[in-house]
Amino acid sequence: MKSDEVIKIKIRNLNVQKNTKKPQKEKSARETIGNDFDEEVVDKFPEVLPWNLPAPDSEKNGEKDSEKYRAVLVNADDEKVKETEEKEKKPKIAIVSLTSCEGCQFALLDLGEKFMEAMEKVDMVDFRLIEDEEDSGEKLDIGFVEGNPMTKANKKTLKALRKRSKLLVVLGNCAAMGGVPEIKNYQEQKNTAKHVYKYIRGIDNVEIQEVDNFVKVDFTFPGCPITGEEFLEYFPMLLESAKTGKSLPELADKPVCVECKAKGNRCMLLDKKPCFGPMIQGGCDAVCPSAGMMCQGCRGLRPKGNIKAMRATLKNMMTDEEFENVTEIYGLRDDIFEREYKLDSK
Ligand code: SF4
Ligand code: SF4
Ligand code: SF4
Repeated sequence: MKSDEVIKIKIRNLNVQKNTKKPQKEKSARETIGNDFDEEVVDKFPEVLPWNLPAPDSEKNGEKDSEKYRAVLVNADDEKVKETEEKEKKPKIAIVSLTSCEGCQFALLDLGEKFMEAMEKVDMVDFRLIEDEEDSGEKLDIGFVEGNPMTKANKKTLKALRKRSKLLVVLGNCAAMGGVPEIKNYQEQKNTAKHVYKYIRGIDNVEIQEVDNFVKVDFTFPGCPITGEEFLEYFPMLLESAKTGKSLPELADKPVCVECKAKGNRCMLLDKKPCFGPMIQGGCDAVCPSAGMMCQGCRGLRPKGNIKAMRATLKNMMTDEEFENVTEIYGLRDDIFEREYKLDSK
């Protein structure tokens, strides 16, 4: 039994005793309770400690005061129970990071009050950027994961999160597509570590693999980093799916070009400058072309993205090698390979 419950029972018993005994010579509350209460307890429950209530007017009033004590105890208990019940009713979520730059988690915090409002509807069990409490490991409605499972400890954390979550939702490019770390899969592979460490013996230098190679993924927020507003739009739908078991939401299949045109940008392709916009999943508000940079595909291929047409369009704007190099930046290269392989084998 928790210490605060024990204390409440002790106080209750004392008051019952006080009520049933003959009102002889009344001891002070401090004398009655003795030294059973440490300072921590006094701090925690000042309202239920008898010496914080008005002293009895006389021995005759002893019974009345006892009723007062009882009322305070009942109120304190009721409030505590109500608070616990409300917390219990809320869906439980956790935001867990693996190996990452934490940029996707900061994209959530950048939402400021909008994020906090959305979080009022849930019980946040773990999110280390906003609280220090140790994760209790309880069951979750939604487990969010950011970063790549590249270390043994990451893989263990990921599998444990999957096990305790009704829905597992991926946050960002590192988790969904391997992200920037995946570049090493294409460049020198294991030798890449030599550019960072003088002695590479004993370094766990594994091939980078996406989260869905290890566990089932229910939904993905794409991007490097994710788009905060997109999170706010889909979060309630995910909560609903977790609660009712109804079908999961899907991102609309629209290219980056839709938002780019809506912003009034002149298409870079018209000026013979490369851009992956047509084959990439929109939803980022076309931030790169709006800033004069090509879309490099951090949000991944859209379901109907036409790679063959994209390659043909870019033929006179970049070499095949340049095309491959750009697709390596955000882990797009293996996805393109897989899509093309599937199409070829049909
Ligand atoms: S996807 Fe980008 S922003 Fe998010 S954790 Fe990876 S590198 Fe950082
Ligand atoms: S600049 Fe890129 S994203 Fe914008 S319309 Fe042209 S191809 Fe599409
Ligand atoms: S424009 Fe392309 S690279 Fe830039 S954020 Fe959007 S999807 Fe990512």
